[in-house]
Amino acid sequence: MELYAEIILPIAIPPLTFKVAEELCGEIAVGQGVEVQLGARKLCMGVVRTLHGNRPDYKTIKTIRRILRSEILVPPATMRLWEWMAEYYMCSLGEVMRAALPTALKPSALTEEAFEKEIFKLRSETFVRLNHDIDTPEKLNTLLEPMQRRAKARYGAVMSFCAAFDNEKEVFGGEVPMSLLTADGVKPETIRTLARNNIFTLEKRELPPDTTTTREYHLRPLSEAQNSVFKHIENEFTTKPTVLLHGITGSGKTEIYAHLTARRLERGESVLILLPEIANLKQIGERLEEMFGNCVSVYSSKLSVRQRTETYLRMCHSKGGCIVVGVRSALFLPIPSLGLIIVDEEHDRSFKQDEPSPRYSARDSAVWWAVTHGINTLLGSATPSVESYFNSKTGKYGFARLTERYGNGALPRITISDTIRSAKRGERKAHANKELRDLIEAALANGRQTILYQNRRGFAPYIECPECGWTAHCPDCSVSMTLHKAENRLRCHHCGHVETIPTKCPRCKRGTPETRGFGTEQIGEDFSSLYPHAVIEVLDADTATTAAKYERIIDDFEQGRTDILVGTQMITKSFDFPKVDVVGILNADNMLNYPDFRSEERTFQSIVQVAGRAGRKDSNGEVIVQTSQPVLPLFSQIASYNYEGMFRNQLAERKIFNYPPFGRLITVIMKHPNNELLSRCANTLVRRLSRRYGDMINGPYPPVVNRVRKVFIQEILVRMELGKAREMKQVVADEISALHSEEPFKRVTIFCNVDPQ
Ligand code: ADP
Ligand code: ZN
Ligand code: ZN
Repeated sequence: MELYAEIILPIAIPPLTFKVAEELCGEIAVGQGVEVQLGARKLCMGVVRTLHGNRPDYKTIKTIRRILRSEILVPPATMRLWEWMAEYYMCSLGEVMRAALPTALKPSALTEEAFEKEIFKLRSETFVRLNHDIDTPEKLNTLLEPMQRRAKARYGAVMSFCAAFDNEKEVFGGEVPMSLLTADGVKPETIRTLARNNIFTLEKRELPPDTTTTREYHLRPLSEAQNSVFKHIENEFTTKPTVLLHGITGSGKTEIYAHLTARRLERGESVLILLPEIANLKQIGERLEEMFGNCVSVYSSKLSVRQRTETYLRMCHSKGGCIVVGVRSALFLPIPSLGLIIVDEEHDRSFKQDEPSPRYSARDSAVWWAVTHGINTLLGSATPSVESYFNSKTGKYGFARLTERYGNGALPRITISDTIRSAKRGERKAHANKELRDLIEAALANGRQTILYQNRRGFAPYIECPECGWTAHCPDCSVSMTLHKAENRLRCHHCGHVETIPTKCPRCKRGTPETRGFGTEQIGEDFSSLYPHAVIEVLDADTATTAAKYERIIDDFEQGRTDILVGTQMITKSFDFPKVDVVGILNADNMLNYPDFRSEERTFQSIVQVAGRAGRKDSNGEVIVQTSQPVLPLFSQIASYNYEGMFRNQLAERKIFNYPPFGRLITVIMKHPNNELLSRCANTLVRRLSRRYGDMINGPYPPVVNRVRKVFIQEILVRMELGKAREMKQVVADEISALHSEEPFKRVTIFCNVDPQ
């Protein structure tokens, strides 16, 4: 019988079927990586999805001639995850494969030679054994005798070889890594000479990854409150695959994760801990290594391609009892006997990939996996997403709550401070109200630290002509250029386009453009002139350009060498800084004014998260939130840590519009350099979909940034009722492929973002 293999290829097309060469039929397995030829010349790696005996009705069928690695790269449960993702997030399996495998495991090239170079190889080692005809001590002695006198080096090499065995019998037929002999002082040339003289035979082999682990845990005992939550979570897991842990900042969620992890390891299961993208993966990874030793693997984009690939392959060879800490893509690792996934800071939007496809949420995928594959998923946060909290209220998820800080510290006091009133009284300096400055000054006097949060980087968001209102815009994108004072230039944050600052307004030729708004860089500068003796640093995408710079800034602050740290979202992550007394949110309005139905939820989360950096160990922190709209209910909810209140308000609003959790959303994104053609295409799609779904189809409308690199963008929002999502996705997908086969619209790029965040 002939054997055929359905192969997933790392491109946006459905799997293709190939014939399996006869000599591979006994070896090939589902989940392996094989070499296939695409088109006339291209060679690439594909993953075997299924094996079967049905010849497809292609005219010519190509043959798979080589299995690239013997490991099962994609075990069955991971394959189901890929398939589910492709269906749910409306993309191809190839796109999932691209996200799932590290670069080195997806070789492709145009020539055999180049392809050979691309194929990943683990470290290899040369093994030494005695030639097979030297099979008795007598034969060996006959050879050694003359050597002992005339060839001392060679004699020494053979003696070293023999000494490597405990049992004399093993010398014949046994092997020793060459590195062991060279460590003994034997020269490699001597070993090669012995091989040429038919005394040794050498074999070079790839070494399997090191999967040995120490089974020794160093856990700290849980507090009474932590312990009862720990027990409660374990108990919830007996009836619910997913549990939400709502634990305030500083309550010691990490410690609970560690105890849950230890339980799983004892049962031989593995644990995956997912963290937000710019979290302090290093800090948490090290903390876990202290507790669990070398069964911890860290997986992030900061690692080299080789390190990531080795981790991937180590998972293929491991037997269970592993801990992986990583960002969203770690979900794709073939972790053996995975029993528990912990998603820390589950509300964080970086668990959703926006670009490129697959536009997947690692959190939601983990939950799906938990439900369908008997894995447990723990979602943890001090400020859960409205969706997850809703799911715990309706009983879909189990629930646990931790309401006290470890060591009985209090949560910092949050005060809402009115920027307009302060300005009227002439009390604002360096974008800070007097209330905030008083606290900063007290902290400086006491040798304590301050964090200032501003969710905009750069010196000022834009420049404006006071005479005619002209602002500098990027010529290729529909955004204003950001002023970066340190480089004295304007920069587009979407395409990187750079311009010099005009001295005269290019439009009216009269006014001198002035700076408007303020970002992290300007705040850093203004505070430096206000407090010349304080050490002030900025942490944002402009200053933390490399992992090393990022870590240096964090380390300086952690060690108390910096007095004031000004930062963007980067500082809201779960840092544990012992000496922070004061946190200032300089402008809560620009978070709130972001046009998105989640902006209030996000504002609540960001502020409560940064606030949590204050008052950790021995003092109560103070938090000042500056806004021009202090009367908004959201601010009193923030000031009293009233999560429930915020949740109820958001739920009421979302109910009206059928937004999540009451319905599901898809944004259809369309792109083309010709705006008129794009509009026609978008309107056609809306008309066709509306015929069926009426006002559940919204748009088309231009997004906040509607032109990037000279390409225009239009979006359509599809709102779906809960039970109808699957059907509507199919209709949307069909309409999109119909458009793609019609002449003027063929070249319009159209894709879907399911569950946009
Ligand atoms: P969260 O992630 O919930 O905000 P952390 O896990 O960072 O809180 O814990 C806050 C602080 O309390 C950390 O410094 C941590 O080391 C300490 N801590 C928490 N639980 C324990 C425990 N059981 N024993 C010792 N220290 C603990
Ligand atoms: Zn002007
Ligand atoms: Zn641009």
